[in-house]
Amino acid sequence: MARIVMKFGGTSVEDLGRIANVASRVQKEVNKGNQVCVVVSAMSDMTSRLVGYVQQSSPAYDPVEYDIVVSAGEQITAGLLALKLQELNTPARSWLGWQAGIYTSNSHSRARIEEIVGSKLIESMQSGVVAVVAGFQGVHAKTMRITTLGRGGSDTSAVALAVGVKADRCDIYTDVDGVYTADPRVVPNAQKLDTISHEEMLELASLGSKVLQTRSVEIAMNHKMPLQVLSSFEELPGTLITSENSEEDDMEREVVVGVTAVTEEAQIIVSGIKDSPGIVASIFEPISKAEINVDMIIQTTSSDGSTTDITFTVPAIDADQVVAVLEASKDSIKFKNLCADKNIAKVSVVGIGMRSHTGVAQAMFRSLAEKGINIKDISTSEIKISVLIEKDYVELALRSLHTAYGLDK
Ligand code: ASP
Ligand code: MG
Repeated sequence: MARIVMKFGGTSVEDLGRIANVASRVQKEVNKGNQVCVVVSAMSDMTSRLVGYVQQSSPAYDPVEYDIVVSAGEQITAGLLALKLQELNTPARSWLGWQAGIYTSNSHSRARIEEIVGSKLIESMQSGVVAVVAGFQGVHAKTMRITTLGRGGSDTSAVALAVGVKADRCDIYTDVDGVYTADPRVVPNAQKLDTISHEEMLELASLGSKVLQTRSVEIAMNHKMPLQVLSSFEELPGTLITSENSEEDDMEREVVVGVTAVTEEAQIIVSGIKDSPGIVASIFEPISKAEINVDMIIQTTSSDGSTTDITFTVPAIDADQVVAVLEASKDSIKFKNLCADKNIAKVSVVGIGMRSHTGVAQAMFRSLAEKGINIKDISTSEIKISVLIEKDYVELALRSLHTAYGLDK
């Protein structure tokens, strides 16, 4: 017997027929003798519609009321699934975030989970009643106001609940049947991975793979919670994400497990800055005050050391604001030129094997060179290499890297 959290996303609960299909998948797990907690999203497009209603009602909306409206979609799905399970003679009860003990910060519309008190859900499961929990929502303990976790947040609800109820595993049912070596719509030879480590999945998620919300992988990694990504439409083996499968466990494993890209970023170039201590801090201070996420920071110094250039990337939607903020500080920062390039893509290769293999970066540079693709910037971490290239070449780059690292099979 195991305790399992099963999460179903929006397309998996799109209509009553699909909710019935979900109910029978849940029933199968229960019939195996498992204790089951289900986390559901809103029916597909429901949340976007609710967000639209809020924006039409009040363009500068109050985030407290935004959360009341947009959290409603999950409530509907939770109730409908509980009803369908009862119809199948599988005892079930729905739970809203506040009833399930999901406590969050007070940042409405993008709250973070602070604590999960799982005792009531555990009691329910132990008494043989499936707990059907509305994902994406929680409550702030002080105000007792409903909060939501940011778009796509029900992955995070599911993984956090799995930790909170001490589950053996968290199964994420979705419209793809696992994690692939690349996006199959771009790279036709992409292969489904049987296993991948939490660390690799975290890099892939934050570098462009859309299968799982990055935050959910982070929680799973921190708590060593095994995740499984599975199709909700076909009964196929999915991809298992654990902290165990390091390279030593699998000698045949490729050094790189996946290639991915982000196209919604912009490169900011600040050049001809008079170099002195504190200059970098003064550039990033106003950007961090504006709560804009910065990545790929590269600084180069002129050969005589008098001036310096700094480039970095930000989400493309924030690029204009970054330019405005820096222009406003021009007197104190004293740069010659400032520009934002939105015509870029960040292409990354990820794999734990990089830690112990040489020539991995070189293989990337060689492969891009052979296709005539120019590299604008490079950044690396222990298990990933990212390059900035012109957006037009992103698909070509992904396909050639997939081949170069032996992922085509
Ligand atoms: N329903 C929410 C959204 O569409 C949460 C989720 O599906 O993960 O963003
Ligand atoms: Mg999702």
